[in-house]
Amino acid sequence: MKTIFDKLNGNCKNSARVSDKVIDLIDKLAKNTNLERDEFLYVLNNITARETGHLYKRAYEVKHIHYQNRVYLRGLIEISNYCKMGCKYCGINYKAQGVERYRLTIEEIVKCCQIGYDLGYRTFVIQSGEDSYYSDKLIIEMLGFIKDKFSDVRITLSLGERSRESYQKLYDAGADRYLLRHETASRRLYEHVHPSFMSFDNRRKCLSNLKEIGYQVGAGFMVGLPTQTNEDLVEDLIYLRELGPEMIGIGPYLCHEDTELKGNESGTLEETLVMVAMARLTLPKALLPATTALGSLHAIGREKALKSGANVMMPNISPTENRAKYEIYQNKICITDASDQCRNCIEARIVGVGHEIDLGVGDYIDFERNEEK
Ligand code: SF4
Repeated sequence: MKTIFDKLNGNCKNSARVSDKVIDLIDKLAKNTNLERDEFLYVLNNITARETGHLYKRAYEVKHIHYQNRVYLRGLIEISNYCKMGCKYCGINYKAQGVERYRLTIEEIVKCCQIGYDLGYRTFVIQSGEDSYYSDKLIIEMLGFIKDKFSDVRITLSLGERSRESYQKLYDAGADRYLLRHETASRRLYEHVHPSFMSFDNRRKCLSNLKEIGYQVGAGFMVGLPTQTNEDLVEDLIYLRELGPEMIGIGPYLCHEDTELKGNESGTLEETLVMVAMARLTLPKALLPATTALGSLHAIGREKALKSGANVMMPNISPTENRAKYEIYQNKICITDASDQCRNCIEARIVGVGHEIDLGVGDYIDFERNEEK
């Protein structure tokens, strides 16, 4: 049973008064005026298909002010599907049976970077399950190889929770950005979808450490998690506003039938697009990916996200033979295409909805690297 966006999911029609108020609040947010908690909630509780078009249009306009119709491409390399964590929604958590585990060597990672570089990508996103095999020493070695070989690229790490000292060492070794979705800003919901050994507070601590060190930081959350409420989603927006991440990843919860949360409904396209657009209006300058999860949920989910405020896409440049093994959710797209096919497909999708690819490094506007140690 859906517990979010009652009116949106119920195909309701608002009275003119309620509709006008939702539109007014969207306009207020678009003018860079922060909404109060109860105002955010009013929008989520009352938005219907009648108002979503207005929301998406405003989010698109705000994106256009800062980034025009440019879409940054990041080459994604999934370096390991080993994970010591137990997120109950994830198909590669430590308990998952039947997962063929793999790890890439530094040489294999650098080879992926070369393929990505030749395709024009100037940001590599190095992503992994939480795999202790990748010690600081090994990651520092990897960063050195990549930065030596490709001096004009940015490296984004997405390796999970680590100590502050570890984050600092990796930053000092040349890592530029770090993605660590907060997953949900609701403690209740976080504890519902994670085992007790995972800590809501530690996740937040990691994010504030990353910010303090000087990374460009990516947070983000899932939409449609079992038992999630509109109040929980409001907490996500407020948390993002407080943290001020440079990047925000928002995807639908996609049910994986080999997890503890099997049998639950997945999040929907419209719910996720509403939150992408609300995030764009809340943090107007954020780098906001049209996520692969959205593309997996709907054939043109990513294109719709671009029209609703997203401005980044992350084509996969992992070795094709490993991609199906990184199955955090089921029916994931882009697992059989070669990296150049992904590049062509993504460019056609971007151009098809009136955007253009930008192969620059795509730093956050206003970003300056903190060189103080
Ligand atoms: S979501 Fe990430 S941290 Fe959680 S189990 Fe999956 S790979 Fe591990």
